[in-house]
This record gives sequence, structure tokens and C-alpha cells, in this order.
Amino acid sequence: MQTRDFEAATSRTDVFPHFLRRRDPPPPGPAPRPPLTLPGLLGALASLAGYVLLLAFVVVVGAALGPGIPERLNPLAPLDPAAPAGPLTAFKLDRATASPEACRAALDRIATPGLTRLPDRRVSAECSIAGHTRVRKLSRALLAPVSTSCPVALRLYLWERHAVQPAARAHLGQGVAEIGHLDSFACRPIRTENGEGEAMSAHATASAIDIGSVTLDSGRRLALADGWRNPDGKIRAFWRQLRDDGCTWFRTVLGPDFNSLHQDHFHLAQGRYNSCR
Ligand SMILES: [Zn+2]
Repeated sequence: MQTRDFEAATSRTDVFPHFLRRRDPPPPGPAPRPPLTLPGLLGALASLAGYVLLLAFVVVVGAALGPGIPERLNPLAPLDPAAPAGPLTAFKLDRATASPEACRAALDRIATPGLTRLPDRRVSAECSIAGHTRVRKLSRALLAPVSTSCPVALRLYLWERHAVQPAARAHLGQGVAEIGHLDSFACRPIRTENGEGEAMSAHATASAIDIGSVTLDSGRRLALADGWRNPDGKIRAFWRQLRDDGCTWFRTVLGPDFNSLHQDHFHLAQGRYNSCR
């Protein structure tokens, strides 16, 4: 019915401008060819030569530069978590954590027995672990074995390597031998200072991990609970640098400055939005 109305409307040529009006079909038989002239032929050849030259330019420049750009300076190259951090590392990390295949490929490049791939886990419609990864050692620091998602494993590895270890050496003169966590996967709603929220926590998909302490190479254990306002300025500076640099490697970082629920741990999450408090 609608089609018929539309056809009826289009046949009323008075409501359409002349170039939209329906034209009569062309008469049967071959259309007459325009006469071939020398200037027309030369113009066509010049256009064709232009296209060929442009194509050759793109191919030659691409071949010359493609393999020549160092991987760490090539924004199209995939993330190599084992490489030194460069200006594009955080950008590549965001890209790697956006797809399960890219994340897995990035983790595979680390090639350490501290990160083990496991079958995905599904507890319910709201609670599951995609890219299920068991983490028990990062670049240097050990962890009590923890099940998490690929993006969190990857971000945790880069945070430990490029933030935790350098901060410990800078402020405390030694490396970190172990990182203490309060788990990653938990099938529960978000917690607020007023009780449970309505939405599910990032922990319900292992998209976050809570970190509460570190143990230095000397064996000394430092807990965030008494480190944030510690009388020792070096310890305070160490924890603040871990939080601030965490914002480079995670998208959401919540710590003691956020609310009373985070006095004893950093909530480090893959996160949809950047939030660093
Ligand atoms: Zn948390």
C-alpha cells in the first residue's frame, strides 16, 4: 500500500524539481558514441598515468618505511609487553585490551610461566571470566596465585614492571619481591559507603584486582593501610607514586583518597572510563 502511494506521489511530477522527475525510457538500440578526438584521448591517458604514479608512490614509500620503523614507534605494531616502555605503550595497551585475540597475543609475547592461560569461566549471566588467566608472577614480583581476566593480567604486568619496581627503587632503594592482593574475581554487586549498589562490580567479570601490600627484597612488608599516612615521607611518596602511575596502566584506580572502603587497597580496573582517585 505504501509502495503504491509512493509510486503515485512520484508520478505527480509537479511536486518534484525537474531533475527528480521520472524520465521516459531511452529508445531501444545502442546509444550513439561520442566521436574520439586527439585531445580527449590525451586527457584520458594523462589521468591513467596520474593514477599509476600515485599507486607506485604509495607502494614504494610503504615498502621503504614499513619495515624500517622501530616497532615501539610504530602505532600500528601490536603491543610487546616485554619491550621497554615507549611513548606509544599505553596507547597500544588500550588497543590490546579492546579485543580478546589482541590481549591473548600480547600475553603470549611475555612468555613467562608466571602467566597461565585457562579456559574461560562462567558462573552466571552476570559473573564470568573471559580471557581467563592465572597469575602467580609478574616481571619480577610474585603473587599468591590469582585468577583474573586477560586485560587485568596484562595491565598488572605493565604496572608492576613500569611503576611498582621503579617506584620502590627510587623511594626505598630496593625492588619488590611480592605483591599482596585481595583477589580479582568476586560475583557481587558494587560496594558503596551506603551498602551494596545495584550494578555488578567490575570484580564480577574479573575486570579489576585489589592490591593491598608489597614485600620488599629485604623481606619487609609494607601495607597500604598504614602506608598512605605513614610518618615516613618516603613510604608515603612510594604509595602515592603507585597510585598515580597506576592511572597510566589501568583505566580506573581507586585508593584511600576515594572513600573509606579503599583505605587498605587500591582497586585497579580495566574500567570503561578513566577515573583516578
Ligand atoms: Zn576492587
